[in-house]
Amino acid sequence: MKDVNVVLGDITQSECDCIVNAANKTLLGGGGVDGAIHRAAGPELVRECATLGGCATGEAKITKGYGLKAKYVIHTVGPIYSGAATDAELLGKCYTNSLELAKANNLHSIAFPAVSTGVYGYPLETATRIAVDAVSAWKTANRGYPMRVDFYCFNERAYAQYVLTLKNTKY
Ligand code: ADP
Repeated sequence: MKDVNVVLGDITQSECDCIVNAANKTLLGGGGVDGAIHRAAGPELVRECATLGGCATGEAKITKGYGLKAKYVIHTVGPIYSGAATDAELLGKCYTNSLELAKANNLHSIAFPAVSTGVYGYPLETATRIAVDAVSAWKTANRGYPMRVDFYCFNERAYAQYVLTLKNTKY
């Protein structure tokens, strides 16, 4: 896919215009990538998050990036995997709503972690397919708007899954 990359590494080091946080509904910080982003951004991030009134599953909210290299953080809340049909829909919405919010703020590059595939238990293979399809559909619908997308993978297994999924996708 044009302007889409797979990166093995720590998303807090991304120099994209915005990075996406796999947050929880409170937006007040947590473990995993959420904890790493808050540590790297510094305490001002949680102070701004506390003014937002939380975030529903599948939705996204934006804050400044503070100590991060990225200017903004887009906080999205992935579904806790349950096996229900709504899981996929909600996970897809995380990607689409994050991209919409980035565009609404005139941003042109975005880094995503593998939302819901950690503590929230979403099977990696399915989650990767949903992520790639959501980004692909958004890019098709927003052809005139340049947006670089970096999929950040924190381990070799996720990296290999993203590379394979992108290879097996027709655009
Ligand atoms: P969730 O609660 O949405 O499952 P987690 O933070 O537990 O969120 O995990 C989401 C994904 O983020 C996992 O694939 C995990 O390996 C990955 N991850 C954890 N820390 C980082 C980081 N610093 N940079 C990029 N990805 C990370």
